[in-house]
Amino acid sequence: MSEDESTAEAEQGVEDASAAITELAKRRGFFFGSAEAYGGVAGFYTFGPQGAALKRNVEDAWRDRFTVKEGNQEIEAPTVMPEPVFEASGHLDGFDDMLVECAECGVSHRADHLVEDETEIEEAESLPIPEVEELIADHDLRCPNCGAPLAGQPVEDFNLMFETSIGPGSGQTGYLRPETAQGIFVEFPRLKEYARNQLPFGVTQIGRAYRNEISPRKGLIRTREFTQAELEQFINPERDEPSLDSVADVEVRLYPATEQEKDDGGYLLTTIGEAVESGVIANEWIGYYLGVAQRWYDRVGVDMDRFRFRQHLSGERAHYASDCWDAEAELGGVSASPESEAGEAADPSAGDWIEIAGFAYRGDYDLSKHGEHADDSFTVFEQYDEPKTVERAVVEPDMSTLGPEFGGKATDVADALSDLAARDPDAFDGETVTVEVDGEEHAVDAEVANFRIEEQTEAGEHVTPHVIEPSFGVDRTVYTIIAHAYVTDEVDGERRTYLALDPEIAPTYVGVFPLLGNDEALTAVAREVVSDLREAGLSVSYDDSGNIGRRYRRQDEIGTPFCVTVDHEGLETAGAETATIRERNTTAQVRVPIDALADELAAIRSGRKAFDDLRAEYDDGGRGR
Ligand code: AMP
Repeated sequence: MSEDESTAEAEQGVEDASAAITELAKRRGFFFGSAEAYGGVAGFYTFGPQGAALKRNVEDAWRDRFTVKEGNQEIEAPTVMPEPVFEASGHLDGFDDMLVECAECGVSHRADHLVEDETEIEEAESLPIPEVEELIADHDLRCPNCGAPLAGQPVEDFNLMFETSIGPGSGQTGYLRPETAQGIFVEFPRLKEYARNQLPFGVTQIGRAYRNEISPRKGLIRTREFTQAELEQFINPERDEPSLDSVADVEVRLYPATEQEKDDGGYLLTTIGEAVESGVIANEWIGYYLGVAQRWYDRVGVDMDRFRFRQHLSGERAHYASDCWDAEAELGGVSASPESEAGEAADPSAGDWIEIAGFAYRGDYDLSKHGEHADDSFTVFEQYDEPKTVERAVVEPDMSTLGPEFGGKATDVADALSDLAARDPDAFDGETVTVEVDGEEHAVDAEVANFRIEEQTEAGEHVTPHVIEPSFGVDRTVYTIIAHAYVTDEVDGERRTYLALDPEIAPTYVGVFPLLGNDEALTAVAREVVSDLREAGLSVSYDDSGNIGRRYRRQDEIGTPFCVTVDHEGLETAGAETATIRERNTTAQVRVPIDALADELAAIRSGRKAFDDLRAEYDDGGRGR
């Protein structure tokens, strides 16, 4: 097979995998394009009953790990926020993607994506606009919609925020939040009070975010409305350390920036502890959260052979972020196992990798910006263990002289003198001192300024916390979990598809069937079993239609880990009725007393027991299908 043919086959495989998942998702109620009755609109998806339950379980698992187990606080802020918030955060000016419009058909495209699709360049987003325009011309890139050449078309910045107006009439301009994070930052003045002004503390939020993507694509992967789960970890960088030891031995596959810049760069297979020690991961808080995140992804069913952490290239990183890594998942069906059969490290450029979470060290950027723009304090007053005596430069200007000299500006001049004393005490060495007020310079007699160095006793200091932000895309995680759980095999000579979802997040946990749908004795008991299991908090689906094999397949396709079947054999002995439990992946079955079903299935769901324990305990070991 030629290289072109094998690439074409691999691409076909990628398309087939995502087409099969999209088809299954729609048919079985995971997700589908919204408002199809009205022709639909690109970039918006509805989660059906299975998808909504799966997404909720993923969110609960995230909440359990990043809120509860970390001892953090969760909040819920509005999705619409007033313009000044986004002026301060920088989104109004800088939350842009590169847009190029086709002169022929008028369809807009993301210019950096066109470049990535048609060239070897992997992160065109980090390139300046003129370079992207040049690449479009040099590679003669064409409009994916109509085929017309795009060379010569201007590439422009397009702001991704949805604008709205708050209240009637011209109202106040607002924006749908493009990330949940700002809802946490703007409430910092209150949140720090709830944390009793004690760093470090973390605040989480799970909620909708909106981005007017130029070209939404790949189903749930790039949508215009999606769910984020974000954690803002506030720390005093001079003092606070994460418990790195708890994740030091987590083995990770890293794709550092230095390797991405090489022609034949590869993965670094290491541990979190070593990567932080050697400086590959520059910040220990980032290292800590990469370790916690990898364990969490493993727990919810992301295939670790198709998972990696990729460091941002310097051009990709926001200027204030000192280190930034993305969690990425491979979705094209290529196993990216670190060791290929030949024992070589897998090729990082093979496969269809997408970002599913970002981990950024944001310094004090966010809180400082809100501190500058808003009327509240975005610092934390940290008390010293013991009060400290410090020397402070102070001024006590003689207002009876400043007043007549500067009139209405006298107070501003006095304030400017105070600021200058704190900033640059040496400025008071001469006979006069110069300060600037409203762009105008004013000379003040040093004696009038009344400058001196005083000893002061201070109980603490105001610290602007630094922020570490793990930011997860929930929809992308849900899609990844489905894609990585998607298995086809053969059962009794028939091809079957199943989702090998983890019991913790499977949308339906148990399917309950009477063996024969029209047998009243069986249906009555099966319905009682359903109530018992629901009473135990399990999510149960009852199905009495069609043959039993078909009913198993339906549950297999939505990833239901267990099916309970009530048959006559199990009802033979009054007082000792049994039913079978069938495990999805192996299709193995075990016969269990009906009274024990709820406890045993709940024990498996909570991880206290495994299906094999049931087989050992009750065993008939029989494989029925
Ligand atoms: P970002 O703030 O761009 O780093 O986004 C944080 C996370 O949100 C990403 O890692 C994605 O998982 C998710 N995300 C960002 N944009 C989209 C989108 N248009 N559709 C779905 N998920 C998204």
